[in-house]
Amino acid sequence: MPSVRVFALAKKLGLRSEALVAALEQVGVTGVTVASSIDEATAQAVVELLAEQAAHAREEAEAKAAREAAAVQAAAEKKPAEVTAGEPEEWEEAAEEERRLAARRGPVEVVGIAELERHIRELQQAETAPRQEAGMVTLAQEARRRRGERPATAVEAPPIVAVLGHVDHGKTTLLDTLRHTAVAASEHGGITQHIGASEIEHRGKRIVFIDTPGHKAFTAMRARGAQVTDFVVLVVAANDGVMPQTVEAINHARAANVPIIVAINKIDLPDADPTRVKQQLLEHQIVPEEWGGHEIVVEISALTGQGLDNLLDTILLLAEVEELWVDPAAEFTGVVIESSLDPAQGALATVLVRSGKIAVGDVVVAGAAYGRVRRLRDWRGKSIKEMEAGRPVEIVGLSAVPEAGEIVRAVASPKEARQRAEEYAEQARQRELRGVAEVQLHELYRGLHTGEVKTLNLLLKADVSGTLQALESSLQQLSDSMPEVDINIVAAGIGDITESDITLAAASQAIVIGYNVLADDHVLRVAADDRVEIRLYNVIYQILEDIERAAAGLLEPVYEEQFVGRATVLQLFRISRLGVVAGCRVTDGRMQRGARIEVKRRGETVYEGKLTSLRHLKDDVASVEAPNECGLLVADWRGWEEGDVVEAYAQVEVERKATAGASAA
Ligand code: GDP
Repeated sequence: MPSVRVFALAKKLGLRSEALVAALEQVGVTGVTVASSIDEATAQAVVELLAEQAAHAREEAEAKAAREAAAVQAAAEKKPAEVTAGEPEEWEEAAEEERRLAARRGPVEVVGIAELERHIRELQQAETAPRQEAGMVTLAQEARRRRGERPATAVEAPPIVAVLGHVDHGKTTLLDTLRHTAVAASEHGGITQHIGASEIEHRGKRIVFIDTPGHKAFTAMRARGAQVTDFVVLVVAANDGVMPQTVEAINHARAANVPIIVAINKIDLPDADPTRVKQQLLEHQIVPEEWGGHEIVVEISALTGQGLDNLLDTILLLAEVEELWVDPAAEFTGVVIESSLDPAQGALATVLVRSGKIAVGDVVVAGAAYGRVRRLRDWRGKSIKEMEAGRPVEIVGLSAVPEAGEIVRAVASPKEARQRAEEYAEQARQRELRGVAEVQLHELYRGLHTGEVKTLNLLLKADVSGTLQALESSLQQLSDSMPEVDINIVAAGIGDITESDITLAAASQAIVIGYNVLADDHVLRVAADDRVEIRLYNVIYQILEDIERAAAGLLEPVYEEQFVGRATVLQLFRISRLGVVAGCRVTDGRMQRGARIEVKRRGETVYEGKLTSLRHLKDDVASVEAPNECGLLVADWRGWEEGDVVEAYAQVEVERKATAGASAA
């Protein structure tokens, strides 16, 4: 009896191989992989099942469309302005509903795991149900790419593409060649100034390429919640093959959930070996379609232009499948994709218009920057009056340089703009002040407790691939055994922790777990700045134990009183209103406001109490380090003498139990 391979049949049916494997399971054939062969009878059975399912799905979709059309009709008859989801009034209602729910949830005392589980389930239900119904739209979602179902006013939008890959593999050349060969005939006025994005025209359709000078920029955009890119073109040189930054790019695109199109470049070179590149990609779970996988691989030469038509066709084809759209009738929102400070023009921001349109004279806010739009330029640097949804534009007139990924929106007046920008700046300052990692393992329990955290995002680095695999599967098992926590591995790689890992972790709200690897001082500093927790281990068991303990609340910080510093009294100042200020030099450690102090004189303790106030020069400060001078004041004692020695003790966070895991940031 003739047999057929699963992936070949899937391809013939226009299905993903996994979908076919799932369908095979439904007809009772288990344990097959994409490479397995199945006999004709089985193939026949599964094809029949799929046909039935497809017919059923079509009926459902038609019924749903009819219901929606009726609803839209009814709504249009009643209130024409409120048809589209996400009207501001509705957000308000949704937010109100959310507040009511939050109030009802209240603090919950959780005793056992079973209780915890039940509580999490309740929260999950409470959270998903009303949100979906009320159609709550956050700002970040608003600026996100729209796919699938669309309002009546929506129009087709050009796909937004980022080109990533290892240095020297041809990213810049590819963009240059595209800019010079594939721009619309009407736009051959030349490029007067490059704004960080290009619009390519192919077969009468537009494709927007954004310059992403590195993976860091790509991910930094995502860190602020705005998913900008629809597709990543991963450039891999055919002679050089998969290199470290290729792997990095794969990780970044995967973490962002952006489909990858592989462009094997430099195929004009004599030593080009595309097959080798494809084999290398397999190691990173990128399986070319021709080998039964999902990734489209095209072979190009950015230098000669060979294969570029094919690349652009592929992008357009995928865009068609995704049904990307924008709503020109909606309010204006945009996302900053690049920004700079120009000595003559001030702050410049290249913004991708996500919905609505922007015009000269509009008042906009982008994070802490705001202003009236003085000038707009299209991607070639030409001055324009307004720009429509789905296209990049450069804005002149902002008060400051906004960061990439910041969401831009229009407001009614400059006054409102300033107010919003100030609020934003204050929030940013508060976050900065807290100065600790945004996601920390020891806070997992509290997150579970309040329903804020259910997923523990981890970025793994290990010394060799064997241990990395072992670690991944142990974490998977642990995740399966802990109903209260979902462990999500954002990325996993080999080698020491790099700056790029930190950026990725920050964008993904992940903790970095290093196993038998290091993080150098620079990386530690970046982690502290980006508020990412790094935990280094050399025993897998310890990692699992720490996560378990964190989930059970056993890693909550423990405070212990410890000696923090010593000072000697040099001089006394009697201030009538205050009392006696002891002018001291800190000789050891630090003095800290609020600390318990003991004042020693000839070996005896003459005072013990709380340090009420601490000054350095003229300022009230929280602490003063050795060897600086400071002024000490206590509320209930004036008996200071020169030469007294002050010892300070304060509550210091300590590790609950000595573990092999060291923690930074
Ligand atoms: P990037 O660092 O990824 O932006 O790489 P570049 O675009 O700067 O290209 C690096 C080098 O590779 C340059 O010398 C290019 O001329 C060369 N290069 C890029 N694409 C091709 C190609 O398709 N064929 C050949 N032979 N050389 C290429």
